[in-house]
Amino acid sequence: MSVIAANLQAVKNDIAAAAQQASRDPSGVTLLAVSKTVSPDRVREAFEAGQPAFGENYVQEGLDKIAALGDLRSRIAWHFIGPLQSNKTRPVAEQFDWVHAIDRLKIAERLSAQRPADLAPLQVCIQVNISNEDTKSGVLPEEVLALARAVAALPNLRLRGLMAIPAPAADLAAQRVPFAALRRLLEELRQSGLDVDTLSMGMSADMPAAIAEGATMVRIGTAIFGARG
Ligand SMILES: *Cc1c(COP(=O)(O)O)cnc(C)c1O
Repeated sequence: MSVIAANLQAVKNDIAAAAQQASRDPSGVTLLAVSKTVSPDRVREAFEAGQPAFGENYVQEGLDKIAALGDLRSRIAWHFIGPLQSNKTRPVAEQFDWVHAIDRLKIAERLSAQRPADLAPLQVCIQVNISNEDTKSGVLPEEVLALARAVAALPNLRLRGLMAIPAPAADLAAQRVPFAALRRLLEELRQSGLDVDTLSMGMSADMPAAIAEGATMVRIGTAIFGARG
């Protein structure tokens, strides 16, 4: 078995263990393989080992990789998980399946206007600055509901839920705090009538805590592809 295939299996085992610990069905946790800085050949290797969903952070790198793996396009879901500038929305609207880091209405409006009519709606999450960090992108928790209502009303987007990258924390208990806050925010959106189902949270270093608090999609890079150079 290749290193990537073995790592994928180990991550899946970790997801299953964390889900079991939380009395959750592991099939409720989707693994997104974060392939930023990873060559197309290694992404193909992960695909061949059974991984169908990949996350990219940088527009040009992502577009190049989607093109290099064009023969697999209908079998891969490509997620744009990085911050997105308004002058770069068009190729993302045209080429990706998901966008995780919506943090202002202007970006969402552009993505909706630029989404080709013959494609399924772009699946989107709103990024929340859940640890209230000055430097982090994402909307503040008190701004989420208004933005979610506006995004949900856009015709060519489908609002799926919320995403966050919490500040690093020392142990499992401390890691759970911001993830629990994101879970409660998603519940608030549901209670206000929005049809949302996705909590995109958890990376290599904090995945079990995220799953304990209800993550439905974990974004894992290092544990699959190794440390980035
Ligand atoms: C890089 C990145 C990840 C993956 O991080 P790892 O620590 O390598 O698992 C997840 N989400 C986002 C938004 C990232 O930029």
